[in-house]
Amino acid sequence: MQDAVIITGSAAGLGKALSHTLSSIGSNVIGIDKNTSADIIADLSTAHGRQLAVSSALDLCPRPKAVVANAGLSPIHENPFAILEVNWLGVKDVLDSFLHPLSKNKGGCAVAISSIGAAVGGDKELIACLLEARISDAKSILDKALKLSVVEAGIVAYSSCKVAVAQYVRANAKLWGEKGVRLNCVAPGRMETAMLEGLLSHEEIAPGIEALPTGITKSASASKVADVVAFFLSDQSSFVHGQVLYVDGGSESLIRPNVI
Ligand code: NAD
Repeated sequence: MQDAVIITGSAAGLGKALSHTLSSIGSNVIGIDKNTSADIIADLSTAHGRQLAVSSALDLCPRPKAVVANAGLSPIHENPFAILEVNWLGVKDVLDSFLHPLSKNKGGCAVAISSIGAAVGGDKELIACLLEARISDAKSILDKALKLSVVEAGIVAYSSCKVAVAQYVRANAKLWGEKGVRLNCVAPGRMETAMLEGLLSHEEIAPGIEALPTGITKSASASKVADVVAFFLSDQSSFVHGQVLYVDGGSESLIRPNVI
């Protein structure tokens, strides 16, 4: 296959919507998910699964056009360590592995999916551990949080991973730019998927989600967010690199109006 767009977490929510959007404009799509409806079935919560995902995708398409590191676990998860594995290593390892193959394709690019949770903020020490590849230190911090509450540990793990993902994109603008590969980040707000449904039906978490300020629209379908990801993957955004765009109806600008 030629010029494929590789999407992690393609079986549901944003990944599924993006697969439809891109297929409808004639792009080749290779979906990776732990769910059986994907082209490549791989569990990104393990190093083996991440390697399998990358090598299988490259077997199908040695010179991909683009990669979207989208798969993510919700903050509500019985094992917050799995959130670190999927939402951080499942993004970082996958993107790192695809840099060279993408550089072989003129116009190669990638998008990482962060979250409005990044603007709300994570744990500074945990974020530093993730960015500095001190994963066992990161797990120790999470272990302490877990002793207090599994819900709190999940929220801290989720928001810290999402900050780290956005910072990864900023920090790698130079390296990726030198290789001719554009790298950007989309940070959704309330997006109408199974993940949001789960959060809104959780007694402890729902009030925080409901309290997010609304600029123009409270929530949007996954296809609205997919349209923005598709723009970042298109030639129309060929001068956009190293950017983090909140696609959130304005929530982020209301939370921190002085950040530009
Ligand atoms: P979703 O739960 O609807 O879909 C996530 C997909 O990722 C599923 O198909 C799932 O099987 C896959 N996945 C999860 N763990 C995996 C693993 N270990 N290996 C392989 N695949 C795995 O979620 P969504 O709402 O579509 O979220 C997509 C992205 O957007 C995530 O990174 C999420 O954090 C982010 N996000 C979502 C919202 C929201 O309101 N829904 C808000 C901000 C950010």
